[in-house]
Amino acid sequence: MSSSPIANHRALRSWVEIDLAALDRNIARIRRYLPPYVRHIAVVKADAYGHGMPSVILRLLRAGVDAFGVANVQEGLQIREQDVTLPVLILSPVLPDEIPLLFEYQLTPFVSSVDELAHLQSWACGHERIISVHLKIDTGMGRAGFWYEDPLQEEVKKYLSGPWIRLTGIATHFSCVCSDKTYTKLQRQRFHDWLGHYGCDAGIWIHESSSFALQDDWKDSPCNAARIGALQYGVGPDSQVPFIQALALEPILSFYSRVSLVKMLPVGVPVGYDAMAVTRRPTRIAVLSAGYADGISTSASNRAEAMIYGQRFRVFGRVAMDQAMLDITDAKVPIHAGDRVTWIGRDGENEITANEFCYWSNHIIRECLCSISARVQRVYK
Ligand SMILES: *Cc1c(COP(=O)(O)O)cnc(C)c1O
Repeated sequence: MSSSPIANHRALRSWVEIDLAALDRNIARIRRYLPPYVRHIAVVKADAYGHGMPSVILRLLRAGVDAFGVANVQEGLQIREQDVTLPVLILSPVLPDEIPLLFEYQLTPFVSSVDELAHLQSWACGHERIISVHLKIDTGMGRAGFWYEDPLQEEVKKYLSGPWIRLTGIATHFSCVCSDKTYTKLQRQRFHDWLGHYGCDAGIWIHESSSFALQDDWKDSPCNAARIGALQYGVGPDSQVPFIQALALEPILSFYSRVSLVKMLPVGVPVGYDAMAVTRRPTRIAVLSAGYADGISTSASNRAEAMIYGQRFRVFGRVAMDQAMLDITDAKVPIHAGDRVTWIGRDGENEITANEFCYWSNHIIRECLCSISARVQRVYK
C-alpha cells in the first residue's frame, strides 16, 4: 500500500487505521467455528478488501490459514512475492495471455470450460510443467463455471486424468446469500447432487460457502473448505444473521480525514459544486481534506454523517474530488483546522459502522471498503 514519507499522522489528509490484533481475534473466532478439517481459504482480493494486502497476508499466515483467494494473476503474484508457498486460488476466469504466469507463480485457476483446459494443457505439455486446477460448477449464479445440468464433456475428463492437469478442488458459488435463502439451498443441493453423480477423490478440496453462507452443520456436507473474505475483516451483512452475531467479530478498519478550514457563511449562500446546498441560517462550515477520490461517494452529498470530537455532523453540499464540507453550526466544542474527522469507526461514545457508511454511499459493504483509494494511507496498529 502507499508508503508515504509522512510519518506524522497530523499531516495526513486522509488515512485508514487497521487494527491487526482485532484481525487476529476475528480469524481465531472464525476458525473455532469451523470444524478442524475444514480448510480456510482466506480471500484477500482487491488489496485485502482495501485493508492492504502485505500486512494482512502476514497475519493470516501466522493465524494458520490454508490458502489464499485472489481475483487475478497480478494479485496472486503479489502474494508469491511475499514468499508464500500456500495454494493461491484465482477466483475469476483467467485470460489466455495470463496462462504462462500461472505456471511461473504456481497459481491455481478456477476452470469453467473445455477451452481453458485446452489452453492449460497445451502450455503444460509444451513446457513440461504440471498445473493444479479447481473445477468451478455453475449451480445457478450464471457466471463462471460448468453449467451443472450439462454432462461433463469427455475432453474435460481426458484433460483431468492426463499427466499435466491435476484436479485439486471443486467449487461452486452462491448468488443470493443475503437475499434468498431458498435459492441458496437449491444451489447447495444442485452442487451436492453434481458431486454425488461424478464422485470425487479423497483429498480434493470441496467448497461452496463464502462468508455469509457458512453453514452451521457440516455433518452431512461434502465440503471440506470455505472461502472467507468479508468476515475476516469483521464486516457483516445489513440484516442480522444469528451465526455471524454469535461470532462477535470486530471491525478492524477506521477511516479518517481532517478539517482543513473552518469558516462562517451568511444566509443564502450556495455551497459547493452545483449549489447542491444553500445556507438557511448563518452557517459554520468545516471544509474537509477528503473527497470522492479518497472513497467518499458523491452519493454522500447532503446526506452522510461524519464525526468530530464524537459529535455527528451532516455533509453539506456535493462531495468533490478532494474536499467535502460539513455543517458544524451546532458544534458543542470549538472545531479547528487539523481536527480529526471520522467517517468509519469510533469517536468517543459514538460510532459510524462500515455498514452505515455504505448506506450513506449507496454502496454494498465490500464495495465501500474497496473504494477507499490508494492515496488513503493505511496505518497499522
Ligand atoms: C470474493 C469471493 C469470495 C469471498 O466472499 P465473501 O462474501 O467476502 O466471503 C468467495 N468466493 C468467490 C468466488 C469470490 O469471488
